[in-house]
Amino acid sequence: MRARWSVLVMVISLVVFGSLFCAGSAFGAPLATITVEAGSYARTDTPISVPLASVTQAVAGQPLSLQEVKGADRVTVPAQIEAGSTPILHWILAGTLPAGQKRTYELVAGEARADRVVKAVKDDKTLEISLGDAKVMQYHHAMSPAPKGVAKVPDSKLPLYDHSAFIHPLWSPKGNVLTDINPPDHLHHMGIWMPWTHTTFEGKMVDFWNVGDGTGTVRFSKYLSTTTGAVYGGFQSEQDHVALKTSKGEQTILKEVWDVRVYNVGGPQKYWLVDFQSTQRCVADQPLIQDEYRYGGLGYRATRQWKGATAANLTSEGKTRTDGHGTRARWCDNAGKIGDDWEGVTFFSNPKNFRHPEPMRLWPEPDNYIFFNFCPSQLGPWEMKPGEDHVFRYRWYVHEGKPDVAEIERIWNDYANPPQVTVEAGRPEKAIVLFDGKDFSQWRREGAGEIGRKIADGVMQSVPKTGSIMTKRDFADFILHAEFKTPVMPPEVKGQGRGNSGIYIQRRYELQILDSYGLEPKNNEGGSIYTFKAPDKNACRKPGEWQTYDILFHAARYADEGGKPVKVQNARITVFQNGVLIHDNVEVPRKTGAGQQEGPKPAPILLQEHGNEVSFRNIWVVPLD
Ligand code: MG
Repeated sequence: MRARWSVLVMVISLVVFGSLFCAGSAFGAPLATITVEAGSYARTDTPISVPLASVTQAVAGQPLSLQEVKGADRVTVPAQIEAGSTPILHWILAGTLPAGQKRTYELVAGEARADRVVKAVKDDKTLEISLGDAKVMQYHHAMSPAPKGVAKVPDSKLPLYDHSAFIHPLWSPKGNVLTDINPPDHLHHMGIWMPWTHTTFEGKMVDFWNVGDGTGTVRFSKYLSTTTGAVYGGFQSEQDHVALKTSKGEQTILKEVWDVRVYNVGGPQKYWLVDFQSTQRCVADQPLIQDEYRYGGLGYRATRQWKGATAANLTSEGKTRTDGHGTRARWCDNAGKIGDDWEGVTFFSNPKNFRHPEPMRLWPEPDNYIFFNFCPSQLGPWEMKPGEDHVFRYRWYVHEGKPDVAEIERIWNDYANPPQVTVEAGRPEKAIVLFDGKDFSQWRREGAGEIGRKIADGVMQSVPKTGSIMTKRDFADFILHAEFKTPVMPPEVKGQGRGNSGIYIQRRYELQILDSYGLEPKNNEGGSIYTFKAPDKNACRKPGEWQTYDILFHAARYADEGGKPVKVQNARITVFQNGVLIHDNVEVPRKTGAGQQEGPKPAPILLQEHGNEVSFRNIWVVPLD
């Protein structure tokens, strides 16, 4: 998952209602083979996503279809591609995959398929998401006026309580409403919403939550996308956190983007699975200080039918509504009874979240309603600096019955420890072969002199002290595939001396090659963007084994300002090592190590010689125009 701020991401769902089985040959050779490994946990109906950075046809925006390999058969599965500079493939690992087992899929040219879609439909007041025929939730973009006469608020103050940018109703699979808005006891409570409570701006308190105080509020601004799809449906909306009484008058302090996705799993009559992401950026010229307080952040006000003995909380640490407040948890379940039936909503906090596992606000009175809030500010003050993105990720599980801890933990494992996905892309027809084991016709030595490398058995091997080599051509944006092998070194050789080489993209940014098998990921070890960023995980094989890098590179962008190039966008790199994603659309703000200075011109790809006998084979590149 990642924050998408400046780029308006168009989301396209490629859907036709097609035949279930087809022969693989009908679609030609697979463009990529994708493997999903369950790892330590059994998986059931797990949402899977993976960038298709190494698949040229996906980057080019061509329609693609996903097929599960079942012996000689190929079964087309519903899939969805989220378009963008790095396209992302989504699908559901349907049914159960036992721990330790894997499934294989092939990506082929052709249209995707769907049996049932998740729909997002707007009207003048709300955006409604439904799964098949069942309603899941409404998001309010229009201002919802505060009702008269339900709370002891003078009519003159009521307009302060008018609200947008919240979710209500959240329905259960049975069709019951599980949220409440404008309840008499807390007129400002709005279903599921995400304001901050005690904050300080310009030295004064601003409360975006208790809107009746008249110091702050949150408002819908615009939609960035809506999605109807075979795998998920949802929306991205921008909302303004507005301070009402600053030195400049009314002022937007935070710009927030919600990304809400309802997956095509479970319901109706079973469960919903929702991914919620809030990305918040301070757009004022000074920071917003978050004061220590017991409320603030993602809030849930449950239906007023859940009350007293027909309502309950349970946290991942076994706490309940009477002893849960102020404790920290990976997840918290909120449940209650309507008619004869118990239902509930579990909120999961992503391990990447600030102060995870987050502290919570729960109402502890046993005869009260259900209120829940993940609240990082309970652990002390913090700051949102101008220009910084703060990303909060949560998964919601809407279920029937009382909470089933085993089922909730299953969903937790899918969320926190997702299956390992590998992507192996084939060489597209239009690729430029840089090395096929025969010659150095595409290469020259860096600096003066002849290339000093050896070629044998289709493999080139660097010879110490003969210098680095680089392509004769220059490249801007591209997809590159390279295979390499580090030598087996004696144990006394340590660190940067163990099979050091590297691929210098545009001679500027080094993707490190080093024997780093089994080590902690570091920013100078194998797979790192040298001295800038460690790989997300260590995917290095043992020395002496062949490995692959698949790289999607977007060069830095420059504008001409008075005849002088000025960088307006950083270079971006996505890397799969041995099919495993290790850098996901990473912005690289400067050259690395011994790289050339950044600039607007395309430049060669360089293979570093660093005193070790590192081998390469099968190198190809697809320029992206
Ligand atoms: Mg190196």
